[in-house]
Amino acid sequence: MDKYIKEILDFDKKYGISKDNKPTFQNLFYSGLCIGGEAGELVNVIKKIWRDGDSIELRKQLSEELVDVVVYICKLIVIGEIDFDKAWKQKLEILHERWSKKLITERQVKI
Ligand SMILES: [Mg+2]
Repeated sequence: MDKYIKEILDFDKKYGISKDNKPTFQNLFYSGLCIGGEAGELVNVIKKIWRDGDSIELRKQLSEELVDVVVYICKLIVIGEIDFDKAWKQKLEILHERWSKKLITERQVKI
């Protein structure tokens, strides 16, 4: 993730939009709205693939919209001053714990 964050910060610096990445509530809120908007565009492409059938053009649009979502996720990591590696590790521990309990429960049901 660091690679993508660095690239988007370099991009913003190059085009003078770095102020948008300061840790303000307004930037946090705006970035969240952007993720929602881009996620909507991503889901719309998925809808078109489901409705109209898969195509090279729709797959291209799918990848573009996915990158748009990741761009704003990167910005949110910066704006929210999130230690993403730490957050990632903590969440994976939670998921491992949750799923290992689920597997135990499923095994007990089968017995
Ligand atoms: Mg988009």
